[in-house]
Amino acid sequence: MKVMLHACCGPCLLEPFDALASEHEVRVAYANPNIHPRSEYERRRDALLEWTRSQGVEVDELAYEPREWDGAVAGLEQTTGERCYACYLLRLGMVAKHAAESGFDAVATTLTVSPWQDPDGIREAGVEACAEHGVVFLVTDFRDRYGEATRRSRELGMYRQNYCGCRYSDAEATEQREQRRAQRASRRA
Ligand code: SF4
Repeated sequence: MKVMLHACCGPCLLEPFDALASEHEVRVAYANPNIHPRSEYERRRDALLEWTRSQGVEVDELAYEPREWDGAVAGLEQTTGERCYACYLLRLGMVAKHAAESGFDAVATTLTVSPWQDPDGIREAGVEACAEHGVVFLVTDFRDRYGEATRRSRELGMYRQNYCGCRYSDAEATEQREQRRAQRASRRA
């Protein structure tokens, strides 16, 4: 099959790409208007492109339109599960449309390598998005390869971000780090 692989970042691409490319013709789609700010979007993209160029892998960068993302999650900003579902749906919808227009059969996503993402939400959003555009959603679960993805990306010196992508996840991750720091300090006291 010809598979359009949605990639959220370089570290998450490594293992899913290898797994899928052993069985399919794979092209990568970088479709992430959720990432805030733009400098972070570009940093993740450039880390991904450095690796794909070294491997001769084709990448299509889709439109970066953060205002469209804001519209997709409007009213859901503070409810993480629903916000993430809307975010998956927008990104996988972009990739499904692009896959259909490019003559591809199927869509998959690197999101399922991350233990921090919601695999059920990704599956539901992927199936819904792909049905709308007449392509197949390949349901994957690469979480057992997360350790190897981490090891490889560190070995490559690849940029590894410390929050999911949107401004809300940045604030949530900062708050969690501060809570852990406070807990460690109170244990030491
Ligand atoms: S936390 Fe991640 S998946 Fe959820 S809305 Fe933000 S960027 Fe999207």
